Amino acid sequence: MPAPTIPGVTQGGATTRGRPTGATDPPKHTPARPASRRGNPRRASRGGRSQDHLHDVVIVGAGPSGSSCAYWLADAGWDVAVVEKKRFPREKTCGDGLTPRAVRQLADMGLEGALAGSHRHTGLRSCGWGLVLEMPWPEHPVFPPYGYTITRHDLDGLVAERAQKAGATLHQHTEVLEPLLAESSESRAAANAGTAARALETLLVESSGVGAGAGVGAGAGAGAGAGTALRSQASLPACAGVVVRDLDTGRTREVRGRYLVVADGSNSRIGRQLGTTRRRGFPLGMALRGYYRSPRHDDPCIESHLDIRDARGEVVPGYGWIFPLGDGRVNVGVGLLSTEQRWKGVNTSRLMEAFVAGAPKSWGLSEETSCGPPTGGKLPMSFAVGPRTGPNLVVIGDASGAINPFNGEGIAYGYETGRLAASSVSEALSGEGPAAIARYEERLSEAYDDYYRVGRAFVRLVSNPTAMHWCVSVGMRSEVFMKGLLRIMANLMRPDPGPAELGYDALVRIAELMPQKAASLLR
Ligand SMILES: Cc1cc2nc3c(=O)[nH]c(=O)nc-3n(C[C@H](O)[C@H](O)[C@H](O)COP(=O)(O)OP(=O)(O)OC[C@H]3O[C@@H](n4cnc5c(N)ncnc54)[C@H](O)[C@@H]3O)c2cc1C
Repeated sequence: MPAPTIPGVTQGGATTRGRPTGATDPPKHTPARPASRRGNPRRASRGGRSQDHLHDVVIVGAGPSGSSCAYWLADAGWDVAVVEKKRFPREKTCGDGLTPRAVRQLADMGLEGALAGSHRHTGLRSCGWGLVLEMPWPEHPVFPPYGYTITRHDLDGLVAERAQKAGATLHQHTEVLEPLLAESSESRAAANAGTAARALETLLVESSGVGAGAGVGAGAGAGAGAGTALRSQASLPACAGVVVRDLDTGRTREVRGRYLVVADGSNSRIGRQLGTTRRRGFPLGMALRGYYRSPRHDDPCIESHLDIRDARGEVVPGYGWIFPLGDGRVNVGVGLLSTEQRWKGVNTSRLMEAFVAGAPKSWGLSEETSCGPPTGGKLPMSFAVGPRTGPNLVVIGDASGAINPFNGEGIAYGYETGRLAASSVSEALSGEGPAAIARYEERLSEAYDDYYRVGRAFVRLVSNPTAMHWCVSVGMRSEVFMKGLLRIMANLMRPDPGPAELGYDALVRIAELMPQKAASLLR
C-alpha cells in the first residue's frame, strides 16, 4: 500500500495506512501570521491590556496540550492567551514517564536541553508471571532511542515558559469559569446546529450502547470497514472567548479571542459546558500513583508489571509501574482499564497496596519509604470524547480523550494534538476559516484512526483474563514478540517493515477486509 500523506505529520516513512511512524510537523503546516499584521504578540498582549483586547487565540489550560498548542501558534506569530488555573510549578498526578515520542516533541520545541538534568531511561523492563524481559527503546529514524522521567511539577512549567518565550501570554492562577458563546446570528445558528448534532450524537451513542464504529462519531458507518471511528461530524458552538476569575483578586473578566482551544484535561469542565461527551464503550483508564524513596532511583529502565491482581487474586486488565526519577525517588503506580465495566468492582487503593507489597524487594518500597499518600485520575483513551471542533474552536489532549489505549501514555499525544490543532487554527486565522478547523478532525483521523482502532481491540483482548494470561505467559517467553509488542504499544513502528510492523499491518488489514467481524472485535 502506498504511503499516505498525513497532514501535519513528518513521515518517518510509513508504508501502510495508519501506521503512525512520524511526528507532527507544523513548520510545514502552520502558516505564519501575515507580515502586515505581525507585531510582537508578546508585547502587544502584555502590560495590563483591557478585557476588550481581542486575541487571535485563547487556550484553556497550560498542561502539555495547551502549552504545546500555544507554543506553535505563538511561534508562528499569532497573538495567543493561555489561561491556567494553577500557578507553576504545580503538581499533576502522573507516572512522569516520557517515551521517545514525547521526547521528540519536546526536542522540536527546543526543550531537550532543558531535560538534561532529568533521568534518562534507555528501555523498558517487563515483568509478569515470574518472567522478566529487558528491552531497549528501539532504534527509529524519527524518535530517539531513549526517554526521560521528570515530574510534572518540573516539566509542565518548562513548556509553558517556552510558549511564553515564543510570545504567548500566560495568565496563571486564573480559572476559566465558562465559555462565552458568540453573539452573531451566524454563530448562533452554528451553535444551534451544534446543539442539535450533539443531541443526535448522544442519542445514537447511547442507543448503540458502545460508541465505537457506530453512530455519528463513526462517520455514520461510512468509510473502510470499521474505520473512521474517530471522526466526529457533530459540531460545538461558536465561541467569543471565556469568562475567567483571577484567583488572586477574585475579580472576573472576559478574555476574548477569534479562536478557542480547550485543553483543560480529563475532567474538562469547559469542554463539557460546550457539549462534549465521552463515549461509554471506549476504553477508560483509572490510575493511582505515589512517590517512594528507593535505592534504585537511578535504574536505567522503567519497569512495568503485567500481572497485577485484585483482592481475589485475579489478574486485572492494566499494569503496575515503577519509574525511576533519578532524584532519590521512584514513581510507583497502578493503572486499570475499564473495559467490560470490570474495574467498577476493583478498589484501586487496594490494588496499589498489593502492588507495592508484592514489588521486587530491591526497590525498597514500603510505608517507611513512601513520600505521601497516592493520588489518582482518569485516563480517557482512543479519542473517546467528542465533538472536538466547532466553527472556531478545537478540543485537544485529555479533554478530547487522546490517551494511547495500548499503554496509557498521554503526554506525547497532548503535545501532538496541540501541534495539529495549531496547524488548523493557524490556517483558519490565515483566511480559511471553519474549513481549516474541520481539517483538524481529518488530521486526527489520518494520524491515529487505525492505530487507536487496533488499540481498542487490544484492550478488549487483555480484558479477557484467559486471553491476557495466554498472551503474556507465551509472549514473555519470546523476546522477538515482546520487542515487537513494545514497538506497537509505544507507537514506535518503523518505516522498514520488521516483525512488529508486519504484525501491525496484518491487524489493520484484518479490520479492513472483515468489517463485520472486525467491528465486533474492535468495539
Ligand atoms: C495516575 C496517572 C499516571 C499517568 N502517567 C502517565 C505517564 O507516565 N506518561 C504519560 O505520557 N501520560 C501519563 N498519564 C496521562 C497524562 O497525565 C495526561 O495524558 C496528560 O497530562 C494530558 O495533558 P493535557 O494537557 O491534555 O491535560 P492536563 O495535563 O490535565 O492539563 C490540563 C491543564 O488545564 C488546567 N485547567 C483545568 N481546568 C481549568 C480551568 N477551568 N481554567 C483554567 N485552567 C484549567 C489544569 O490546571 C491543567 O494544568 C497519566 C495519568 C494519570 C492519571
